[in-house]
Amino acid sequence: MPYDGRFAGDPLQVLNAVFGHPGFRGRQEEVVRHVAGGGSGLVLMPTGGGKSLCYQVPALCRDGVGVVVSPLIALMEDQVAALRQQGVAAAALHSDLPEGEARGVFRDLHDGTLKLLYVSPERLLLESMLNRLEQLPVALFAIDEAHCVSQWGHHFRPEYRGLGVLSERFGRTPRLALTATADARTVEDIRAQLGLRDDPVFRGGFDRPNIRIEAAPRESERAQLRALLKEQAGTPGAGIVYCGTRARTEKTAEALRADGFDALAFHAGMDAEAKRDAHRRFARGDEVIMCATIAFGMGIDRPDVRWVCHLDLPRSPESWYQEIGRAGRDGLPARALLLYGANDIALARHRIEESPAAPEQKRIERQRLDAMTAIAEAPACRRKLLLRCFGEDTESENCGNCDVCHAPPKLFDGTVAAQKLLSAAYRTGQRFGVLHLVDVLRGRLTEKVAQFSHDRLPTFGIGKDEPDGFWRSVARQLVAQGALDVAVENHGEVVLAEEARPILKGERKVMLREEIAKPAGPKARVTPAASGDPLFEKLREWRRTEAQGQAVPPYVIFHDKTLAEIAAAKPRTLDQLAAINGVGGSKLQRYGAAVLRVIAA
Ligand code: ADP
Ligand code: ZN
Repeated sequence: MPYDGRFAGDPLQVLNAVFGHPGFRGRQEEVVRHVAGGGSGLVLMPTGGGKSLCYQVPALCRDGVGVVVSPLIALMEDQVAALRQQGVAAAALHSDLPEGEARGVFRDLHDGTLKLLYVSPERLLLESMLNRLEQLPVALFAIDEAHCVSQWGHHFRPEYRGLGVLSERFGRTPRLALTATADARTVEDIRAQLGLRDDPVFRGGFDRPNIRIEAAPRESERAQLRALLKEQAGTPGAGIVYCGTRARTEKTAEALRADGFDALAFHAGMDAEAKRDAHRRFARGDEVIMCATIAFGMGIDRPDVRWVCHLDLPRSPESWYQEIGRAGRDGLPARALLLYGANDIALARHRIEESPAAPEQKRIERQRLDAMTAIAEAPACRRKLLLRCFGEDTESENCGNCDVCHAPPKLFDGTVAAQKLLSAAYRTGQRFGVLHLVDVLRGRLTEKVAQFSHDRLPTFGIGKDEPDGFWRSVARQLVAQGALDVAVENHGEVVLAEEARPILKGERKVMLREEIAKPAGPKARVTPAASGDPLFEKLREWRRTEAQGQAVPPYVIFHDKTLAEIAAAKPRTLDQLAAINGVGGSKLQRYGAAVLRVIAA
C-alpha cells in the first residue's frame, strides 16, 4: 500500500500507520510537530536516537517533497530502501546514479509523486537543481550529519558550506539540521553556517543504556579481543573493531580470519571497489567483523551491530561516543570495549602539539583528549563521565551497565610506588621504555640491564615484590596523570613530565587504581533474549530469503527486535501482527501472510 497522504497532518497517525511504531521517543514528537508546523531547527541526538523520523514524519505530513541532504551514498541507499519497504515514495540522487534512473527521479519529482528525495550536497547545490526545486512545493529540507559543515569537527566537508544558500533561497521552507555531535563549538558553527541562529535546538537524551561500556588497559590485544568474541559467540549480528591505523585494520582482520572469523578490513586507503564490497557485505546483514579506521562509520545504520571494540584510544569522547553508538541501535543489549595503552595517550598528545593547527584549536583538542583519558582511567561510573561531556548530568551515581559500576576499582595510596617508578626513569637517564624500567624495578639482570650497569643503581630490584603488570599499570596511570611522558617520536623512552617533581619531592600524594583481574561482577546479558528460540531463527531464515530475493538488507524488511517480538507474541491474525512494534501498514500487507505462515508452521 503506497503511502497516499491519507494521514497528512497528523504525525502520530503517520508514525503508527506508515512506520508501525506505537509512539514517539524522547523529543521526536516535539521536533516533528515543530517542523510539520513550518518551523526550522537543529536536532542533536546520539546515533541510534531516532533522528530519521524527525524529518521523515513531517515530510509526509506536509505538502511537497522532503529534500534530505546526506553526505554518503550508502546512507542514502539504505534509507531509500527502508522507506520503500514502508510504502513511501523515496529516491536518491547522487553521482553514482545512471543517467536513465536520474531522469526517472526527476520525472517523479515533477509529477509530485515523490515524498522524500535524498541528495548529495554537490548535486543539490547545482544551479539547475536549485532552480528546479524553486518551481516545486518543497515540504522541508533536512540536513543530515550536519556537523560536516563545521571545521571544528573531524568530518568537515567543504561542500556542506554551500548549504547556507538554502536559507536565502528557500526562506519559507522548514530547514532541519541533524547531528550526533553535541560539542558546543560545532553546534554554534552549524547554526551560523546554516542560518539557524534564531531557531530552536532540540537536544535529545544522549544516554544509550543498552550499550554496556567497558575499558581496559591493552595488555594483549589479541587475547582481549578473543575473550570478547568468545563471550559474543552464538549472538547473531555484526561487530566492529576500530583501529588507529590502516595497517592495523589489515593485520587485525587477518588475525581474526586465522581464528576462523569472517573479518574484513576497511580504511580510506583501499581502492573504491574493495571499499564498496566491504560496505555491501556489512550493509546486507552478513555476520561479519569489520576491522576499520574511523573512515568506516558514517552511513552505517545497521541495527544489529552487537559490539564495538576500540584497539586504540579515540581522540575525543565525542568521536568515541559516535563510534560506539553504532552498536545496539535496535535497542537490544550491546557492548563497547575500549582498549588503550599509555603510549596512546602520549602519542595523541604529541600529535596535537605537532599539528599545524591554531593554538586555540590545539587547546580544544587537548581538552578533548584529557576528557577521553579521564573516561579510560575512570575510578567511578564511566557513563556518568561520558554523559557529562554532552552536558547531561545524571542523577544517579551508578549506571549499572559499565564495568566500573559492576566492579568498582579500589584506590590505594600509590605515592611510594610512583616515586620508585619515577626515580627508575630518572636514574636510567630517561632514555628507556617502560619494559626496561620494569626489568630494573623487578631486579632482572637482562642483557640490557648488564650492558648499562643498571644493576648497580639503587633502584635496581626495589620493585621486586610487585608483578610486572602492577608496574605497567603504575606507569600508565602516571602518564594519564601527567607525571610521565612517552617520547613517541623517538623510541618510546619514558621521560619525566611536569607533575613528576612534586611527587618525587613528596609534596603530592598519588592515588592509583588497583587493577583487578577482569571480568569481575555479573556478566553482561549480551544475548538478545530471543536468540536460540527456534521460531525466531525460522523468522530470520524467512527474512534472509526474502531479502536476498529483493536484494535489500534484511533489516529493512524487519529488525531483529521486531522478529523477536513476533516470536514471543506468536500472533495468529493480521490484526495481532499489526499491533507489534515495527509492523506498519505496508509491511503488514507485503509480509503479513508470509509471517503468519512461518508461525503456523
Ligand atoms: P539515528 O539516525 O538517530 O542514528 P535512526 O533514525 O536510524 O537513528 O533510528 C534508530 C533506530 O530506532 C531505528 O531502528 C528506528 O527504527 C528506531 N526508532 C526510532 N524512533 C522510534 C520510535 N519512535 N519507536 C520505535 N523505534 C524507533
Ligand atoms: Zn556505570
